[in-house]
Amino acid sequence: MKIVVFVKQVPDSAAKVTAENGQAAWGDAPMVINPWDEYAVEAALQQKEAHGGTVTAISIGSENAKEALKHALAMGADDAILVSDPALKNLDTQAIARLLAAIVQKVGGVDMAFFGRQAIDGDSGLTPAQTARLLGWPALTLAASIKLEGSTVTVERSFEEGRQIVRANLPAVFSLVKDFGEPRYPSFMGIRKASKAEIPTWTLNDLGIAAPTPAVSWPTLSNPPSREVKCEFITGSSAQEIAEKLADKLIAEKVL
Ligand SMILES: Cc1cc2nc3c(=O)[nH]c(=O)nc-3n(C[C@H](O)[C@H](O)[C@H](O)COP(=O)(O)OP(=O)(O)OC[C@H]3O[C@@H](n4cnc5c(N)ncnc54)[C@H](O)[C@@H]3O)c2cc1C
Repeated sequence: MKIVVFVKQVPDSAAKVTAENGQAAWGDAPMVINPWDEYAVEAALQQKEAHGGTVTAISIGSENAKEALKHALAMGADDAILVSDPALKNLDTQAIARLLAAIVQKVGGVDMAFFGRQAIDGDSGLTPAQTARLLGWPALTLAASIKLEGSTVTVERSFEEGRQIVRANLPAVFSLVKDFGEPRYPSFMGIRKASKAEIPTWTLNDLGIAAPTPAVSWPTLSNPPSREVKCEFITGSSAQEIAEKLADKLIAEKVL
């Protein structure tokens, strides 16, 4: 089983992201592996444990994105590839999907391409489906469990309204939710292996494609309008009195 798992490097979820001169800025906040992609790595490793094969972690980004790849290696991925090129600028989901599809084709022989359900910075959740469309592969999104019988895969999809069973043939694209369990902690040996790993960098030349043109542009980026927040402390001589005052206020505001 040849599995690739796509990981994006994102600002830490605790970072305060602001708009500065039309660009998103997050100050000195650390960059981390997209939390949803940790679940995807976990799911990929579970498939490898069940069926054998290899897990390759792949990211498109700057040299710094190697840290996200090292996290995947430390969790147990077999190898990693960074795709980086100075010509890659102003990319939207379609452009990223074009690159990811070209990467899958260059890796060759891929059975399963795993994605997180969404990136916590871009938040579109579009990339898996767009990549599947370009590859001509089934898109099995929001996968909560994966059962493989020969080359047929049965996936339980999880979404707010319920659960759905879908079936398709490999190769296929998957986006994963949290149901595979908490992502494993990198082991000590894993961290050592990751710190020594030589991660190859592929350029557009290696992929044999030109820089993809985005279909969407971003003419403006601004901070949300500031909201006036009124803060009121409810005091009282006992917890019951405070709770009653709070309940009265919530009823008056029609919250209850
Ligand atoms: C070189 C570069 C230049 C960019 N320029 C701009 C810009 O000018 N303006 C702007 O607004 N955005 C820019 N982006 C961000 C880009 O538009 C988004 O990364 C991309 O469209 C994915 O959208 P999303 O973040 O909503 O991901 P989603 O669709 O929410 O992500 C779903 C899943 O797709 C996978 N994935 C997504 N992105 C990557 C990645 N880079 N590498 C590996 N896996 C990935 C992950 O598994 C992720 O969980 C740039 C990104 C790169 C790498």
